[in-house]
Amino acid sequence: MLRDVEVIAIDGPVAAGKTMVGRELAKRLDLRYLDTGVMYRAITWLALKNATPIEDEVALGTLADETPIMLDGSNSDRVLVDGISVGPELREAEVDRHVSLVSRVSSVRSALVAQQRRMASEGRIIVVGRDIGTVVLPNADLKIYITASSEERSRRRWKEFQAQGRETDYQSVLNETRARDDVDTQRDDSPLKPAEDAWVLDTDGLTGDEVVDLIVQRVNAEAQGGIACA
Ligand code: C5P
Repeated sequence: MLRDVEVIAIDGPVAAGKTMVGRELAKRLDLRYLDTGVMYRAITWLALKNATPIEDEVALGTLADETPIMLDGSNSDRVLVDGISVGPELREAEVDRHVSLVSRVSSVRSALVAQQRRMASEGRIIVVGRDIGTVVLPNADLKIYITASSEERSRRRWKEFQAQGRETDYQSVLNETRARDDVDTQRDDSPLKPAEDAWVLDTDGLTGDEVVDLIVQRVNAEAQGGIACA
């Protein structure tokens, strides 16, 4: 069956390469790009800034409910959090350490999912996160679950940190990656897992460009003849 692929959901664990792949795909396919991770990071950043206790689920839910988050620019690098433009702050170590804890709070998720669906409602978009194919956009035209071993993902992340001049050792990055994976996959609300109809792409040993090429080939094949996702 011929079908245009205009809404793509990309999910996967920490440092699987979703952001790089999503951004590059958006350029190649001329689609908009939304990284939902920055929205969870924005609420976490705001909670830390306001000294909202991370264990206070009611306060976190209220914060997420009352804080409009808008993208500032087209690549999800910066967001407007209640009118304030924030970017690199969202990637700070404190935010990294707390974001999975904030993300498991159901009232935070429902507030952000509503905002994400609104942003995606005009179509022609790639949305990246943990629960996009399973919860946010279950009717996406193509669902991709990008993954890699925790060692490979931690190596990539460690290199990124080194390039940013952030002091850390590989073992700590591996421990933190595994801890975040555990919280993301074991939470009650919208745990990280591939949608039943997702295409699972293991990127161990593949470059980012190779992953993007594979996905573009798949999108073109779908438009020309249709492939059942497996
Ligand atoms: O993708 P990124 O690492 O920026 O996401 C930060 C965190 O936000 C994830 O570890 C996860 O806890 C949470 N998240 C989520 N659902 C999404 C996107 C991100 O729970 N759709």
